[in-house]
Amino acid sequence: MNTTEALLAALRQAVQQAPENVALRMHLADTLLGNDRPQEAEKEYRAALALAPDDLMLKIGLACAFYEQGKLSESLVIIEDILQDDKAPVRAHILHARLLLAAGEKEEAARAYRRAIAADPSLANDQLAERLRPYLNLQEEASDQHRERLPAGELPTAPDTAVERPQLSFKDVGGMEKLKDEIRMKIIFPLTRPELYQAYGKKVGGGILLYGPPGCGKTYLARATAGEVKAGFLAVGINEVLDMWLGQSEANLHELFEQARRNTPCVLFFDEVDALGASRSDMRRSAGRQLINQFLAELDGVNANNEGVLILAATNAPWHLDPAFRRPGRFDRILFVPPPDAGARAAILKILLQGKPAQEIDFALLARKTEGFSGADLKAGVEVAIEDRLREAMKTGTPAPLTTKNLLAAIATLKPTTKEWFATARNYALYSNQGGIYDEILAYLKL
Ligand code: ATP
Repeated sequence: MNTTEALLAALRQAVQQAPENVALRMHLADTLLGNDRPQEAEKEYRAALALAPDDLMLKIGLACAFYEQGKLSESLVIIEDILQDDKAPVRAHILHARLLLAAGEKEEAARAYRRAIAADPSLANDQLAERLRPYLNLQEEASDQHRERLPAGELPTAPDTAVERPQLSFKDVGGMEKLKDEIRMKIIFPLTRPELYQAYGKKVGGGILLYGPPGCGKTYLARATAGEVKAGFLAVGINEVLDMWLGQSEANLHELFEQARRNTPCVLFFDEVDALGASRSDMRRSAGRQLINQFLAELDGVNANNEGVLILAATNAPWHLDPAFRRPGRFDRILFVPPPDAGARAAILKILLQGKPAQEIDFALLARKTEGFSGADLKAGVEVAIEDRLREAMKTGTPAPLTTKNLLAAIATLKPTTKEWFATARNYALYSNQGGIYDEILAYLKL
């Protein structure tokens, strides 16, 4: 037995004798990691974390073990979680730099590395520095350099977003009963029955944040909310608000809130709201503190009255959202919009086929065959089936109605798109679930 093996054997024996000793377990895990045995190290870090779930050094150790095994997404989840705290250990920044580099975000990686070395020069790593060398001399906050000041006297106009009057209402939304209920209680009834809320002294205000895999009806539900109360609907993609002129993004955002306030009742719907908080190297996606503060002030109605403005937001990446959004009175309701279950899939298919020539359709069978499909996937399936029928109609000259068989054949050509999202979401729910915000994902995945 060589010396490393002997040391590990001794450590393992010691751990067996004192299984509750976290420091000892960490020492064993660190030694395994230092000897290129990340898989075994992962096991030991997990065992230690079971005893001390908040230990930062153990979490970083686990993230390193993931990184060494190429499990980059798992590693990034832990590190991003740790970095939410300004006083995160420097080692976390170094690992963050490595992870960003692996993701191709070289400038961000260089910035993380520079910050780490400034705090603790002993952590300098020649190999990593060499790979980051071309980027290390870039100015700090390079993204701000690209942002220009608005020339005096020129005021670019805010993006012109028209207020829509949706015809859609909750009856057009298949399934989602719990979500509809939450929306009624939190934003519809306060608008339509304000006296009841006053009677109980219940404060109204704030918004609802919807999150979940793409194509599962977040935008659709927001639009239907507006239709349900015959309100206007103003949909905004955060990327449309972002502007290259310094200060102009804030002005754009303010103008959108004002537009909603002029058109009450109005549902103001923000899509991709995570782009506000995401610290990405891409300047257009990195909105900065100023804009976040502006958004929060508008939301809080600091200088204006938000009465009659119903605020909904959606994101596929809630983990990139600034925690300040979750404070009471802001987006204090964070609702998971799961892929539709079998009943909802049948209901969505019925809605999608309304008004189309179709025979008696076996919706229950179609629902069984579309496990994991999003609303958008189902829509794509129906469209493929219609195209097939059209192709036939071109040949025969008569349009034949859609059948269950057609739809099944169309569906068989598609793959559900929600799986990929859950692969990422699962990691956040397992390793970054502060305050149980992702409990609904865990419950959905039966973890
Ligand atoms: P993304 O995250 O990509 O913006 P999303 O969650 O906002 O997606 P939508 O754009 O709202 O998803 O949904 C896509 C389409 O799927 C809708 O236009 C609608 O036709 C259909 N759809 C989704 N869910 C439902 C539902 N519950 N009932 C009826 N149709 C639905």
